[in-house]
Amino acid sequence: MMVGSIGRLRRNGIVFDRVPLVYCPVCRRFDVHPLVADAFDLLLDYAEADGARVVDVAELLRYDEAALRAAQPFWDDGDAEALVEGLIDQALDLLSAARALDDRLWRRELHDRLRRLLELRARIQAENRQADG
Ligand SMILES: [Zn+2]
Repeated sequence: MMVGSIGRLRRNGIVFDRVPLVYCPVCRRFDVHPLVADAFDLLLDYAEADGARVVDVAELLRYDEAALRAAQPFWDDGDAEALVEGLIDQALDLLSAARALDDRLWRRELHDRLRRLLELRARIQAENRQADG
């Protein structure tokens, strides 16, 4: 499950700031948000032709943040713990669906995802405790 966010992305040696993107918090895969993927490709072409090193995407690309959020069931607002809680709840829901369907492969995938999400939550909680103390 990909999480939506506005953040930084590196492509072809160029740093793009304030890009609408989606990422997987488990495997750390980052993609441009599908709603702006075509526009971003054009921007990438221009930036390469220009020899740009850093591009502020929010200055060059008009995007409707409400529409971007509406397209993603999860959105990263900076509260990592709340986000991972939501993802764990969702994985548990899917796991009961996989059990009901007796889908072994799916169950195994979800168990793996859940384990990694729980590890991620433990890491975030430890970091938060350190920040508090
Ligand atoms: Zn992933």
